[in-house]
Amino acid sequence: MNLKARNENDATSALRIIPREQHVISRKNISKAALRVLYRLNEAGYAAYLVGGAVRDLLLGGHPKDFDVATNATPEDVKKLFRNCRLIGRRFRLAHVVYGSEIIEVATFRGTGEEGVANDGDRHVVDGRIVRDNVWGTIEEDAVRRDFRVNALYYDISDFSVRDYVGGVQDVQDRVLHLIGDPETRYREDPVRMLRAVRLAAKLNFRIDAAASAPFDDLGPLLADAAPARLFDESLKLFLAGHGLKSFRMLEQCGLLRFMFPATARALKRGDDALRSLIEQGLSSTDERVAEGKSVTPAFLFAVLLWGEVRDLAHAWMAKGVDSNEAWSRASMNVVAEQCQRVAIPRRFTFTMEEIWSLQPRFEQVQRKRVFRLMTHPRFRAAFDFLLLRAGESPAIRELGQWWDHAQKLPHETLAAALSGSAAVAEAPPQASASQAAAKPRKRRRRRKSKPDAS
Ligand code: ATP
Ligand code: MG
Repeated sequence: MNLKARNENDATSALRIIPREQHVISRKNISKAALRVLYRLNEAGYAAYLVGGAVRDLLLGGHPKDFDVATNATPEDVKKLFRNCRLIGRRFRLAHVVYGSEIIEVATFRGTGEEGVANDGDRHVVDGRIVRDNVWGTIEEDAVRRDFRVNALYYDISDFSVRDYVGGVQDVQDRVLHLIGDPETRYREDPVRMLRAVRLAAKLNFRIDAAASAPFDDLGPLLADAAPARLFDESLKLFLAGHGLKSFRMLEQCGLLRFMFPATARALKRGDDALRSLIEQGLSSTDERVAEGKSVTPAFLFAVLLWGEVRDLAHAWMAKGVDSNEAWSRASMNVVAEQCQRVAIPRRFTFTMEEIWSLQPRFEQVQRKRVFRLMTHPRFRAAFDFLLLRAGESPAIRELGQWWDHAQKLPHETLAAALSGSAAVAEAPPQASASQAAAKPRKRRRRRKSKPDAS
């Protein structure tokens, strides 16, 4: 079928075209790579639009980090036009055009498939869920299968106008997220849209329209069927993109947290204020780091989110007489195993999380040899930052944090001397009866510290 012809014939009465002089989108704020793709497609006779989050963010005056293009060219057509192009995806086939580190995603307009037909060629729906979506269609059809109205705006490279088929421009002005179509149907098609609602509301400071948030309670459990790998990606976008604290609060308020992080929701429900403060501080310092352009690690984030359950389980086992190391490692393993059924955290991150957790009890052992050994542990910094977040758990933990903070600032010899004798207490920061917290384990283990430490 000639897609171009189909495209031109389909006119929608709802279409509103906003000409260049009536909107703020300037080509200056569109990446060179995206412009090249748009122009090349257009010169070859195809329709070419910037679409989705980039148009939304440009209208809001933001600087999008990724640019998506929609076109009536098929992926194979696109491949012929660009040497630097690869075709990807099976569930949702599209073309990636690569310029250095920048990838422009070029998607062919999707059709909606015929009403009532569950398996129409390459559009596959199981129990209302879209599992494959490769039926080409018109721009109008492409607009209505997008999730939110604000995400269904098209910037036309041929005349620099914005095409709005569903009222997205008004929603951008009103700062509201409306789903396109019937919310329940749209969430059943793809439950991750519920998380996208929360994420975009947090990121953009938008409210979620009542009709779009109403089904969360009933349909939240559908998230259990979402692919864990996809939920991992989504959780990074929720928590590591600079608006983590807000995302977290909204997820909890909306009742969706428990479907993504059941252990976190359970621990918070036990009314653990110290845990809430640990999570909130962890997320807000992560947000600050993102704002400053510093690196952030998923391992630390997940260690923060799951700490409450790990700690409580470990303590419960120790109370039953299980050895401390064994209790911590069992607790970590159990919590990680449960979490990974929902959110597929890659092994390299769970490994680091387990290290951060297992180092926590070691901060209580402040004999000279152990102090220096812990300080040179590759995960010391992360584990120490984590200890500081735990300050609300008890005065002893707060003092322990202060003690280690102080200890790190001392010259090696001073610290070594202090740790060799009773000077340890004198060298501790004035308010740090840290020594109290620290002295306890010290006393317990003194016997084992028999010979001078060579480190
Ligand atoms: P971000 O600012 O995080 O990139 P975004 O809206 O651009 O937000 P993407 O995941 O990059 O999100 O998706 C690009 C566009 O694809 C969206 O704007 C939307 O039009 C469409 N889209 C993405 N995910 C879905 C979905 N689950 N259902 C329907 N449309 C979707
Ligand atoms: Mg995007």
